[in-house]
Amino acid sequence: MSGTREPVLLTPGPLTTSARVKRAMLRDWGSRDEEFLEISRKIRAELLKIAGAGDAYATVPLQGSGTYAVEAMIASFVAAETGVLVLVNGAYGRRIVDISERLGKRVSVYEVADDSLHDLGELERRLEADPRIRSVVVVHCETTSGLLNPLVEIANVVKRCGRALLVDAMSSFGALALDVEALHITALAASSNKCLQGVPGLAFVIARRDALDASAGRCSSLVLDLHGQYRQLEADGQYRFTPPTHVIAALAEALDELTEEGGPPARYARYKKNCELLIDGMRELGFETALDGELQAPIIASFREPEDGWFSFDLFYGALKRKGFAIYAGKMKSASTFRIGIIGAVDPSIISRFLEVVPLVIVEMKNGLLHQSQQSPLN
Ligand SMILES: *Cc1c(COP(=O)(O)O)cnc(C)c1O
Repeated sequence: MSGTREPVLLTPGPLTTSARVKRAMLRDWGSRDEEFLEISRKIRAELLKIAGAGDAYATVPLQGSGTYAVEAMIASFVAAETGVLVLVNGAYGRRIVDISERLGKRVSVYEVADDSLHDLGELERRLEADPRIRSVVVVHCETTSGLLNPLVEIANVVKRCGRALLVDAMSSFGALALDVEALHITALAASSNKCLQGVPGLAFVIARRDALDASAGRCSSLVLDLHGQYRQLEADGQYRFTPPTHVIAALAEALDELTEEGGPPARYARYKKNCELLIDGMRELGFETALDGELQAPIIASFREPEDGWFSFDLFYGALKRKGFAIYAGKMKSASTFRIGIIGAVDPSIISRFLEVVPLVIVEMKNGLLHQSQQSPLN
């Protein structure tokens, strides 16, 4: 699925995109041209469909990486005088706490270990104990480890307690089942370059229209003001500031590919196959996963670094890269891990090829044949 010379990105995004998605960027679009506006309208409608959202919701795209949409969502939907409870079990949850604090929100944090789930009874108790908390934020798939948070169960508690639910669905959107209406989600944030298999540069928030209307004037940032972007797009279909036209054209192509593949269920099935193949194969090679099986989403897998002396992530990374694969450093608090992404224009035959290369690298490492020559990124 990928080109011959560039490495396959086994990373959580940017990730390996198809030649077709890359080709969609080979033309220039005028941002006010009717043809471009039509692409933009189509994307907004298609993203709503993927989210299971009807007329009560709207897609508000935003220039930038995924974090821009998360920050815009918090800035727009958490009122200063109320509080927000952030569920944390990884680095992306911690980032939401950081964002909320910088925005001057009243933040409560319910944090558990990076390889654990929250206790839902405890969540309910915390909401009952503090009526000022009006919203709860959760990360659907914690890309830090690959852990899947139980969105349906969390949404049920939040709904029962009458609070608004905001979701960071960055690394799950487009593959994992999602129904924002059924789960009473007020808003979710995601981006072009993860399971949608587009290129980086466009983030978006899917939000209830009544919440968008109620947020008028709340966001103190001009560029992150979702209500402002929403009003403009609804009025004349245009972004307020220069849109990343090539990225948007590539996303339109990527969404066509998703439909042709069979939609999110088919994409999920492919990722699941990739994931099982990868984890089984890595276990056979002696690696241990950092998560219990039932917590694992088929998005990215974390493996413990072997502790018997021969392993160095930098050497491992460099050798794999020379053989055509880019993996990802670990980010878990509790253990030294590295990550291998499962998503992107990657099918099981590519995972099988990767699993043929890993033992060659292990032999080279164990025999001391590799040296600290190739740079590896720390993240
Ligand atoms: C990728 C990701 C983000 C956004 O990261 P950016 O680097 O800003 O694109 C946010 N949350 C989660 C869970 C992610 O996986």
